[in-house]
Amino acid sequence: MGRLISIASGKGGTGKTTTTANLSIALGKMGYKVLAIDADLTMANLSLVMGIDDAETTIHDVLAGTAQINDAIYATSYDNVYLVPAAVDWEHVIRADPRRLPGTIKPLKPHYDFIIIDCPAGLQMDAMNAMMSGEEVILVTNPEISCITDTMKVGIVLKKAGLAVLGFVLNRYGRSDNDIPPDVAEEVMEVPLLVVVPEDPKVREATLEGVPVVEYAPDSDGAKAFYELAETVVRIA
Ligand code: ADP
Ligand code: MG
Repeated sequence: MGRLISIASGKGGTGKTTTTANLSIALGKMGYKVLAIDADLTMANLSLVMGIDDAETTIHDVLAGTAQINDAIYATSYDNVYLVPAAVDWEHVIRADPRRLPGTIKPLKPHYDFIIIDCPAGLQMDAMNAMMSGEEVILVTNPEISCITDTMKVGIVLKKAGLAVLGFVLNRYGRSDNDIPPDVAEEVMEVPLLVVVPEDPKVREATLEGVPVVEYAPDSDGAKAFYELAETVVRIA
């Protein structure tokens, strides 16, 4: 049986999509069959980050009831990694019903080792439906206090809702002298720190190239952190 893991945060721009793409590809390289799903229905960009931008059928068509999920699953150029892309145009967004996400995603569980769900930020209805499509959750925060406390709130709500909170990724560490240190962040979050991902220009460069950093610059500090995250996630099964 596979594992369904939601990637969540309190605020936007913390690195959820970056984490989804790099964790998926790192797990794929370890030999696991992985499905990455773009469930950020209004701010979708996972397919761009993973270098696919011409998908005919998307998660939005499935949530609108005009396509089957199997028609929205694409093989990627990364070993063992499949992708469910999302549409970016507003016409598709307004037709898609986010309440159909859990019923669409959960039945895919037996067919993959890992299903990684890129979720919207916060606790609104579309974010809740995306996050509740998983059974486990990885939180992503930046080392700023408001970001940490917002992400902590999301973790508390998801735990109450029955998800297993694996822990959090402290992303973009080292950008400022005022960054909250990892041990303090872990104390505030009250869930395990899974990995510290440093601020690394290679990560952004990779995003712009449409090739996630674990593939684009495997020896960079950013890539090493995402490989470490993949190993940790496998270990804490
Ligand atoms: P979210 O999905 O949470 O909104 P993204 O993953 O899209 O956030 O990341 C937002 C931006 O931050 C992107 O341009 C991405 O390249 C950049 N970014 C993410 N993590 C890092 C990092 N560790 N170092 C440098 N830039 C990063
Ligand atoms: Mg995103």
